[in-house]
Amino acid sequence: MSKDRFVAHLDLDAFFCAVEVLKDPGLKGKPIVVGGRPEQRGVVAAASYPARKYGIHSAMPMAEAVRRCSDLIIISHGFKSYKTYSRIIMGVIRSEAEIIQQVGIDEAFFELTDQIDHWDDGITIAKRIKQKISRDVGLAASIGISTNKMIAKIGSDFEKPDGFTVVRPGDELKFLAPLTVQKISGIGKQTTKRLNEMSIHKVLDLRNTPEKTLMDRFGKHGIQMSRWSNAIDKRSLTEERETKSISQERTFSSDIHHESPLLEKLESMSEKVAQQLAKEETKARTVTVKIRYADFRTITRQQSFQVGIQTKEEIFQIATKLFRKYWDHTHPLRLLGVGVSGLTDKESQLVLDF
Ligand SMILES: [Mg+2]
Repeated sequence: MSKDRFVAHLDLDAFFCAVEVLKDPGLKGKPIVVGGRPEQRGVVAAASYPARKYGIHSAMPMAEAVRRCSDLIIISHGFKSYKTYSRIIMGVIRSEAEIIQQVGIDEAFFELTDQIDHWDDGITIAKRIKQKISRDVGLAASIGISTNKMIAKIGSDFEKPDGFTVVRPGDELKFLAPLTVQKISGIGKQTTKRLNEMSIHKVLDLRNTPEKTLMDRFGKHGIQMSRWSNAIDKRSLTEERETKSISQERTFSSDIHHESPLLEKLESMSEKVAQQLAKEETKARTVTVKIRYADFRTITRQQSFQVGIQTKEEIFQIATKLFRKYWDHTHPLRLLGVGVSGLTDKESQLVLDF
């Protein structure tokens, strides 16, 4: 039997607001938010826990937040200091963990599998990380620990704030069963709605649904969801770093010099890329086309956009434009590829809203 993995997810509690409190301790315990001014149609980027008691949450229009709490203290973002603190926190994690994957300004996975003899030794290390962050930096973090990324991520949110949730090897299914499906990162609002229509609400319901039923409804994503519901998630910490971009490429069995079959390939690859984007519930800001001639001369050309791109039609349209512009239309190709990057998640979208 192979060794159980030890994977942790650390998420700082109300990070932006907590940094503001460090800078001005007088704000402690008060309802504060970081974000734009209400008269400038600002939105809440982050809310302190006292502010959350009023139902204020990130992405809410600031005008609405002020309506809910007349004592609300609005602070414009100090993004530089958030970055500084973020770097300090990541340094603390790095001082203890050999493998770390930062996934946002205030969250990171770390894996201790190969540096510990017994699974419980990892708990000691994780506790020490949490303690260092609290004692040396003055910030609170929530940590989730389990045998894979999916459960670790759910775990860090489970007892937030100041949480420390451990789901031991063998306890994964029991832990997941009563949770609503949307707790799984990778099952978003739309998918949840569709699952609910199939009377699938809890992870246990998902587990009890035949994989084939899920596959017929959701394709590859269905298979993945079925695996997740069975606590199977083999993603490594480095792998996901690579999904900062998604791409497809085809090397042809013989070189192609006609446009129409090349466009067909481009279309099917665009579809695959779009499916992957949908699965990760993200959008891309850049589309790239890769062209390799028979003599191995290779060019990549890309175009970036302000708004996120997600559909196959959008990707295919942009890729076609790039392809037609940069292929010389005379020399045959041995490879064609299409990719997207500049992937946006909820976090970075908020940051860009400032
Ligand atoms: Mg956080």
